[in-house]
Amino acid sequence: MKIQARAKLNLTLDVLGRRPDGYHEMRMIMQSVELADTLDLAFNNTGELRVSTNLHFLPNNEKNLAAQAALRWWAAQGEPPRGLDITIDKHIPVCAGMAGGSSDAAAVLQALNVIEDRRRSPEMVARVGELVGSDVPYCVLGGTALAEGRGEIITPLPSLPKCWVVLCKPEFSISTPALFAKIDSVKLRCRPDTQGAIAALEAGDLAGVARRMYNVFEDALPERQHARVNDIKNALIQCGALGASMSGTGPTAFGLFSNESLAQEAQERLLEFSGDVFLTRTV
Ligand code: ATP
Repeated sequence: MKIQARAKLNLTLDVLGRRPDGYHEMRMIMQSVELADTLDLAFNNTGELRVSTNLHFLPNNEKNLAAQAALRWWAAQGEPPRGLDITIDKHIPVCAGMAGGSSDAAAVLQALNVIEDRRRSPEMVARVGELVGSDVPYCVLGGTALAEGRGEIITPLPSLPKCWVVLCKPEFSISTPALFAKIDSVKLRCRPDTQGAIAALEAGDLAGVARRMYNVFEDALPERQHARVNDIKNALIQCGALGASMSGTGPTAFGLFSNESLAQEAQERLLEFSGDVFLTRTV
């Protein structure tokens, strides 16, 4: 079975505080885009769970989130693991704040639910996903949604009006644990207007959502990386984006466009910042 695993963006990302269990309380508006990995699942009779990808540096064993999802799935059904080959064609940039690994995990759960004819509801599939990672439940449900708690409590929202998205992943990586550790001590200069963005979604107001986009992790980035992300956001706005922000713990920055040709021009212009530039659409 072939299945697509879509990338996500954070239209807003707020960290409300640290909880007694050590996790952070999050509040974020998530959005799926067409940019996706492709997964191929085929049962084999060796009894082994094997993963292969087109990126040599990704794990091809049980460390791969796609394999973890399959193991969690069978455990949740009270059954032993089966022989399965998972082939992943990665298109979503890795370590980019776009939930590529979580989305692959969600796709495996959804595919196994269908292939094994279990007929579990999307909400039940999402609950299994939660055991793999906090972003997996959202990746199962997709669309436009509010994610709270660790990110696993999902409330669907009215869909963002369809638009073009230009994404640019600068050529440096961000350590997610380090950013979470830093966010507690950083004085946040700005918070996203999550409630205002939800009201704009309810009104079908794309520009209203776009101008309210913000991600508090931008303030926790090291100075040079922060400047680079800001340069990309400014370039997106100069190219006609309705708004620009960073996704997840970064470093990918993106802009929303209501006009395709402006988005294409932005894609060309952004190549000056990185080779990892994508033009996609919201789902
Ligand atoms: P998020 O937005 O959820 O924080 P991310 O985009 O920052 O995620 P990913 O690309 O999902 O990060 O993955 C980061 C880590 O997960 C990498 O260290 C990678 O080795 C590991 N990983 C395991 N399985 C996968 C997979 N199928 N695809 C991508 N990364 C994977």
